[in-house]
Amino acid sequence: RAPVVQAAAAGSRARAVSVRNEISYVMVKPDGVQRGLVGEIIGRFERKGFKLRALKLYSTPKEVAEEHYKDLSSKPFYKDLVQYILSGPVVAMVWEGDGVVASARKLIGATNPLASEPGTIRGDLAIEVGRNVIHGSDSPDNGERETALWFPEGLVKWDQTLEPWLKE
Ligand code: ADP
Repeated sequence: RAPVVQAAAAGSRARAVSVRNEISYVMVKPDGVQRGLVGEIIGRFERKGFKLRALKLYSTPKEVAEEHYKDLSSKPFYKDLVQYILSGPVVAMVWEGDGVVASARKLIGATNPLASEPGTIRGDLAIEVGRNVIHGSDSPDNGERETALWFPEGLVKWDQTLEPWLKE
């Protein structure tokens, strides 16, 4: 993807530099699905203006859950974490947009819901770190890696016709 960096041509306003078009892997975890929060969560990403590139209700294979959290495999909570992700279906999604990775993390809030600001998904909808409702990639590289892991079938290409109303 090309960086969205604009030369400040004469007469045009300079826009934020080095904001890149990215993808983030976002997942409503099993507690969010069970609690009926799927629509609420998708709505927040839609209203923000990001572009949905993939979406599925998914019974996660054990190997996918283990691979997804492999960086945490030495943590004491790793086994419970994998069990939590396997405890019911998840809603797996890929969202695309300029700076979507960091922005999604802001929408989601801090890992510990009690430390998450009100207005964030975890701040509004969760209490415990072990039941924190949603995942979002923590870097653009992980956005790509996690997307390849959860959507080996690939993403949906489509034109978001409201783009001129979201972006200069
Ligand atoms: P984030 O999901 O905010 O990127 P991490 O990558 O640090 O956070 O952790 C991944 C997930 O592991 C968290 O969302 C949470 O579900 C779980 N987790 C993290 N820390 C703990 C903990 N101390 N106890 C239980 N579960 C945890």
